[in-house]
Formats: sequence, structure tokens, C-alpha cells
Amino acid sequence: MKVDVSYNFMKQHIDRTEAKDIIANNEVKNLPNESKIQILKENYWWFNEKDTINESIEEGTYPKISDNFIELIHNTPNPILTKEAEILLVDYLTLKMKFATNLYLQTKIDIINYNTKNYVIGEDEIAGLCPCCENYSIGYAEDGLWEICPVCFWANGGDGPNHMTLEKAKSNFLKFGAIDEKFLKYINKEAKVKYKKKL
Ligand SMILES: [Zn+2]
Repeated sequence: MKVDVSYNFMKQHIDRTEAKDIIANNEVKNLPNESKIQILKENYWWFNEKDTINESIEEGTYPKISDNFIELIHNTPNPILTKEAEILLVDYLTLKMKFATNLYLQTKIDIINYNTKNYVIGEDEIAGLCPCCENYSIGYAEDGLWEICPVCFWANGGDGPNHMTLEKAKSNFLKFGAIDEKFLKYINKEAKVKYKKKL
């Protein structure tokens, strides 16, 4: 009798958005509380300030959050300690995966779901090339202007904002792994494997 077992090996396709969502939700679960608070304070500094939140929501500059969560912010004295803060943390961690290659996302997905066959598909976001480390790690064209490269810490605005020439930055990157040794502590080790490199 011929048994078709091929379905066991069929990969289930998930798009990049789904993959990022799975990865970010998983990372949030494993994040220590002090890291959560640090992320919220550094990136959503207005998190505990109800008036500023209200203004930001009206201006449309607050991240997309549910009505329930907005209610919660209004009613909870210290929302940083609530589970719902994870909406912002997921938002932050998802943004951190912008421009990451499918291979990077796939590796993460495989670690989370080692016994399933989720296969990440979808086009990479269009990214700009960092002139220093030559990774496609910043916003494309004008979007990437003044952006700081997460791989090498070059600010994409010429020599001025970096206080050094591009040549010096490139040689420092080769030597230290960042345009200046003092920035190493801000660079996530995974940044080096996250992005497409210039061939
Ligand atoms: Zn760079």
C-alpha cells in the first residue's frame, strides 16, 4: 500500500508580518521586567504621563493600540506594571525587525517552533544601504537620512554628525565592530546577521 506522507513535510507558509509577530510575542515573554521598563522609558517616555498620551493619541503619534488599552492607561495609576504594556513592547520589538532578512526571521521561527515547518515568505522591506558597514540596514533614500545604523552606529548624514570621516568610520568598524568603541554597548550582537549585505 502506498502511503502518502508528503504532507508531513509540507511547509506552512507565513508572511513576514506574521513571523515578526510570533517572534516579538515570544521575545516579550522572555524579557526581564527591568528590560521591559527600560524599553518603555526610553522609547515611550510618555508612557506614564496621561496628558501627554492623550495629546499623542489626538495627534496620531501614539502607536496603534486598542481602545481597551487606551481605557486602561486612563484608569491605571502605573500602567508600566500591567500586562497590557506588552502591546507597546511587541510594537517596539517588531519595529526592530524592520529590514531584517527572511533568513534571520526564519532562524528565529525555527528556534521557537522547532517541530513545525513554518516557512517565512514575502519580500524584504526596501532598505537603504549604510555607507559605512554596507548592510541594507537603514531607511531607503530620504527615509534613511539621519538614521543611525544598528550594525555600525554610523549616522547617515555625512561626516559632521559622526565627528569623523567615513574612511575613519569604516576602519574603526573593521577594527572594533562599530564606528567608535564607545558605541559597542548600544549595538545588539544580532545586528550583524540581521540584514542583507551588499554583494
Ligand atoms: Zn552601518
